[in-house]
Amino acid sequence: MTGLYDSFQRPINYLRISVTDRCNLRCIYCMPEGGISQLPHNQILTYEEIYAIAQVAVGLGITKIRITGGEPLVRLGLAKLIQMLAQIDGIDDISLTTNGILLSRYAGELKQAGLNRVNVSLDTLDAARFKRITRRNYEINQVLEGIDAAKSAGLNPVKINMVVIGGINDDEVESFAAKTVNEGWHVRFIEFMPTPGLNNPASYFVAAADIKERLEPLGSLEPCRPQVGNGPARYFRLPQAKGTVGFITPLSHHFCFHCNRLRLTADGGLRPCLLSDYEVDLRRPLRRGIAPAEIKKLIETAVKNKPLRHHLAEGGAPKGRSMTQVGG
Ligand code: SAM
Ligand code: SF4
Repeated sequence: MTGLYDSFQRPINYLRISVTDRCNLRCIYCMPEGGISQLPHNQILTYEEIYAIAQVAVGLGITKIRITGGEPLVRLGLAKLIQMLAQIDGIDDISLTTNGILLSRYAGELKQAGLNRVNVSLDTLDAARFKRITRRNYEINQVLEGIDAAKSAGLNPVKINMVVIGGINDDEVESFAAKTVNEGWHVRFIEFMPTPGLNNPASYFVAAADIKERLEPLGSLEPCRPQVGNGPARYFRLPQAKGTVGFITPLSHHFCFHCNRLRLTADGGLRPCLLSDYEVDLRRPLRRGIAPAEIKKLIETAVKNKPLRHHLAEGGAPKGRSMTQVGG
């Protein structure tokens, strides 16, 4: 068997790289309003260090890379990193997850550097509510302009990620789904997950089944066949829709048995599972000057220790880093 496999014979071919723990927003379900204590600059991996790790990971079997954060577009010169990664032989997809605030400024440059596509997180279509959810003084129009700029630059498909939060924005799922018909949006509804350090009420959680029920008046949701992508989302189409409706259900139907991911934190922790605190430090060994063969062994150790599944539904949330530190 070639490629990278964990102890449960799951193929591991997808690396999510968090390039910063900083963010220009403070989404209520992700970050405390006052922010988190930030990593000192000298603990954040340089682009050269990220490149060195990615090169070894690709040699082992990683073929897809997603750049995330914090907010990845607040890190200066991100296009340079994309350009470096795009030169690694064996990568067939480089994507980005962003809150979209700075996207209209960078979309063209990122595309030119080799970025293939982008996911934009947007939890409401209402300007005032946008400010209440993100708790910073940015305008929703900046995100909408970012989405348009990404489409014009050819960063397709642009997917819109909406975290459905009970009592906050769950009354908008119909409007988001309607955008898949009227404007060809690709919308993914994400179930809220409890975040370490935030005392979000349990009422924030809305199960995908309840979202689907709310969408019934819009027509029947036909499963997309074959299912698009190899990620955790399950995709459907409303009648006459050019776009798709996806559901990401970490709690109601965890997708661990098909998980193909590793995550690299901004300070060089390699995490085989978003929802477990276990990680292997790559930064210190790298800075001690270890050879690529040793990095390879460390990556293999992380993969070998990938847990079979998370235990969120049984109350087993990670205690350590927040979502913005691991990259979601
Ligand atoms: N700042 C970028 C953004 O918002 O797209 C990238 C990082 S963010 C941590 C990545 C994704 O995680 C976003 O789509 C965000 O909505 C999602 N996320 C953050 N906290 C979450 C939570 N508690 N439950 C579900 N999704 C969450
Ligand atoms: Fe920032 Fe993204 Fe977290 Fe919102 S979800 S606070 S944009 S990292």
